[in-house]
Amino acid sequence: MPIALVVEDESHIRGFVRAALEAEGWTVFEADTVQRGTVEAATRQPDLLVLDLGLPDGDGCEVIRSVRSWSSVPLIVLSARSDESEKIRALDAGASDYLTKPFGVGELMARVRASQRNHRRAGDVPAAAETVVRVGDVEIDRAARLVRKGGEAVHLTPREWGLLSVLLANAGRVLTHRQLLLSVWGPAAAGQSHYTRIYMGNLRRKLETNPAQPDFLLTENAVGYRLVLDR
Ligand code: CA
Repeated sequence: MPIALVVEDESHIRGFVRAALEAEGWTVFEADTVQRGTVEAATRQPDLLVLDLGLPDGDGCEVIRSVRSWSSVPLIVLSARSDESEKIRALDAGASDYLTKPFGVGELMARVRASQRNHRRAGDVPAAAETVVRVGDVEIDRAARLVRKGGEAVHLTPREWGLLSVLLANAGRVLTHRQLLLSVWGPAAAGQSHYTRIYMGNLRRKLETNPAQPDFLLTENAVGYRLVLDR
């Protein structure tokens, strides 16, 4: 049975997440502090972490950084609605996804399933091996660096290609503006979040059927972007 670790100091939320996961066959362990969470993660080697950021003895991001030093396990952060910067910090520290409190059981389990799917895909298929990826009527050939839409070749600039490649390599995951800027433009551009907006606009105009209502190049409000392959 897959193992989940829930790190949350509010016992009713912990119980709610535990019940939802157990109903779908997970074995669930719990922790309520940064310190316990870090120890339990290392001991239990979970297949999933669900993590609150506001913990009594510190910041949940400490758990994320510790876990990310040895594992790529899916890690879903629970965050308060008011605080976008908190989500961004957690994603920059290596969280895979986030849920905004309050959330329902359906939303939680959809995120859990998506995180497991993405993780399996990343584990089974080396990124370079799966050269041609299709999403809707768009075909992306990573080895040949070719993109087609409806069978027609689409020209991408090197930066547009760079942005698309990073999103594709992290399909299903939210990437923050900062993460995209660092990997596509480099450290000097870390503060230039208009770059990602401009280039995402270009990609959408070239690849989306309706750039104003994208099907796969999605905006995560105030946080960043996410490419989805299976909706
Ligand atoms: Ca809390």
